[in-house]
Amino acid sequence: MNKLNPFPFVVHFWIALLPILFFTSCVGSTYNPEFERVVFDGARALELIQMQMAFGDRIPGSEAHAMVGDWIVQELQDHGWRVEEQFFPYREFQGRNIIGMGGPTEGEWVIFGTHYDTRPISDRDEDNPWTPVLGANDGGSGVAVLLELARVLQNEVLDRPVWLVFFDLEDSGGIDGMEWIVGSTFFVEHLQEHPSEAIIVDMVGDADQQLYYENNSDPFLMEEIWEVAAEMGYSSFIPIGKHSMLDDHIAFLRLGIPAIDIIDFDYPYWHTTQDTLDKVSAESLEQVGRTLQSWLLSN
Ligand SMILES: [Zn+2]
Repeated sequence: MNKLNPFPFVVHFWIALLPILFFTSCVGSTYNPEFERVVFDGARALELIQMQMAFGDRIPGSEAHAMVGDWIVQELQDHGWRVEEQFFPYREFQGRNIIGMGGPTEGEWVIFGTHYDTRPISDRDEDNPWTPVLGANDGGSGVAVLLELARVLQNEVLDRPVWLVFFDLEDSGGIDGMEWIVGSTFFVEHLQEHPSEAIIVDMVGDADQQLYYENNSDPFLMEEIWEVAAEMGYSSFIPIGKHSMLDDHIAFLRLGIPAIDIIDFDYPYWHTTQDTLDKVSAESLEQVGRTLQSWLLSN
């Protein structure tokens, strides 16, 4: 019997649905910052390593090193960061730290740091000890994570100052009597105020990533970051102490500034000619980047 006139039923059905549709569309348009957020992209970070390697070996004093420094400055400026450069003499070199500043100019501030120079020799390489390290992971990965953070953080309203600091002359230690962590040491000695914390990333791209607690790092800050990673389900962060590193975080710790070193020191290609792009992965970079993004924006 309703074969002849099914239409009235259909009309009533849709009219009855209208209030529900209206209600759900209102709920859907509610502002949701999570929905708007630009998230850290591991694939883009991997590209940023590739771009650094295209300059050549970023050895202090070389043209490639100067060019990668200029490129870091440009990348920061393109993403809306204020940039300051800090030049300093060290032996025959002109050192250059690069500082990207975001958020308000006052308040408790946080530093994310890494080194951008690469090692002039591969002294852990039995076959080619005098060849420079290509530095996909050692040098390349930390810069990539910080520059991808520069992109994602430009869209955020930061409630405290954030500095992205690229240290020079970290990785020539032991060569012809040179010291380690030269750039970061100069940097902290010339700070007028102290940041509330400093987080160093170094060798954070290993495709086979294990990020153990580093024994010299500030235990409270370290626990906080590893907990964020655990909440995000990132298994590469392992909350067990393993290595003790002399890295850029030591410069901060010496002055009593809470600092940590996020580093995968179980990297068999460390200081060899095999530290190449095929040994790092987008996924590893992404786990570190998203953990730092999440930690910063929830603190
Ligand atoms: Zn190194």
